[in-house]
Amino acid sequence: MVIIMNTEATQQNINDVIEVIKGVGLEAKIMEGAQQKIVGVIGDKTKLASVPIDAMPGVEHSVAISKSYKLASREFHPQSSVINVSGILIGGDEPIVMAGPCAVESREQLLQSAEIIKAGGAQFLRGGAYKPRTSPYSFQGLEEEGLKYLAEAREKTGLKIVTEVTTVEAIEKVAKYADMLQIGARNMQNFGLLKEVGKCGKPVLLKRGLAATLDEWLNAAEYIMNEGNPNVVFCERGIRTYETYTRNTLDMSAIAAIKHLSHLPIIVDPSHGTGKWRMVKPMALAAIAAGADGLMMEVHPNPAKALSDGSQSLTPEHYQDVMNAVKKLSKFIKEENLLSEIEE
Ligand code: PEP
Ligand code: MN
Repeated sequence: MVIIMNTEATQQNINDVIEVIKGVGLEAKIMEGAQQKIVGVIGDKTKLASVPIDAMPGVEHSVAISKSYKLASREFHPQSSVINVSGILIGGDEPIVMAGPCAVESREQLLQSAEIIKAGGAQFLRGGAYKPRTSPYSFQGLEEEGLKYLAEAREKTGLKIVTEVTTVEAIEKVAKYADMLQIGARNMQNFGLLKEVGKCGKPVLLKRGLAATLDEWLNAAEYIMNEGNPNVVFCERGIRTYETYTRNTLDMSAIAAIKHLSHLPIIVDPSHGTGKWRMVKPMALAAIAAGADGLMMEVHPNPAKALSDGSQSLTPEHYQDVMNAVKKLSKFIKEENLLSEIEE
């Protein structure tokens, strides 16, 4: 961190700033500019987090040099992390796919979905049992009953289960049935929830908040990791912009940015990212071409009858078509070694 003093700053002002820095156990170095003096802070700047340096007399402003997140940062962990979720490697050689209905609606619907998902070659079955719906009158999910169907589907197909947890109270229950806990976009900055999933020890799929910057998203991962859970995977699912044609604006640049800033894997959800099933295939392929470690896609045995997100859900046939294309593209990328530079 550097503290830029204003042109009117007195020696006393500078001494006061240095005293504060030394007071929290950090070192200060003065740099003389042509007009202004700059105080460099050496050491862990989080020690200064609760000191309002910018409010001190003579201070123009302060600038952070190193990032506020450390555990999630590539700076401190140069090698890409591979996250092992019940034996499935995310961030390894092959992109992984999580697919399934938006919500677990019934035993029959879920088991039928699981067969479709398995046949298409995905590794994970998704499906919300706790649904964070915009309207309180919309279908809210089957809760524990839904979790039991997910666990039954795992028994039958061998697919791993990823499902959303929306409250601290539900963590234990969800963790009992799922292989991976999903933190939804609406909860990305629910810090109490992040801390508790950090403590529970299960791998976490952390979706990007509706209007979250990359820095906020990385800091959300830091909350989870700071509780001792290193197994975090990012999921880009689109952000709010002024565009209304698509449900969200899928930020493809986030893939390359996260790969540069963090060692953690990132997957992409073109279903919530676009809101339109027709756009899922091209965006899925674009994500893989850009270096995503996997995909999350909504698939429903009969999207026209879905209780939520039918318009962005793939039919079984379309799902199969997307999977075939994704497999061909990833094989080509691997054979030609097209993404090797992005990875490191
Ligand atoms: C979901 O995956 O079902 C979901 C609700 O997604 P998001 O949190 O990205 O809106
Ligand atoms: Mn959905």
